[in-house]
Amino acid sequence: METRKYRDRADYMVKAVTKRRKRLREMAVDYKGGRCNVCGYDKCIAALEFHHEDSAKKDFGLSDGLTRSWPKIQLELDKCLLVCSNCHREIHERITQPLVETSK
Ligand SMILES: [Zn+2]
Repeated sequence: METRKYRDRADYMVKAVTKRRKRLREMAVDYKGGRCNVCGYDKCIAALEFHHEDSAKKDFGLSDGLTRSWPKIQLELDKCLLVCSNCHREIHERITQPLVETSK
């Protein structure tokens, strides 16, 4: 019985972490305007990615760093540009240039 209870609890914890990550991702995307900064794509949140404008300033990857506290994530987000996965590849291949943010 004890083992079973433990397993249920572990299962619950895993689900809670997944839920939290998903929520943080939604918050992060929302914080960055909710759409691709290059083409305006906003159909699928899973296809939006964070591009570090200056990779030297990168403290942690936002794709796997969503276990951090929200204020820390926000600091990291301020160094990023929200783009869709297509534009992200194009930026890295230097086919497209991200728009320079003038609001900061
Ligand atoms: Zn795009």
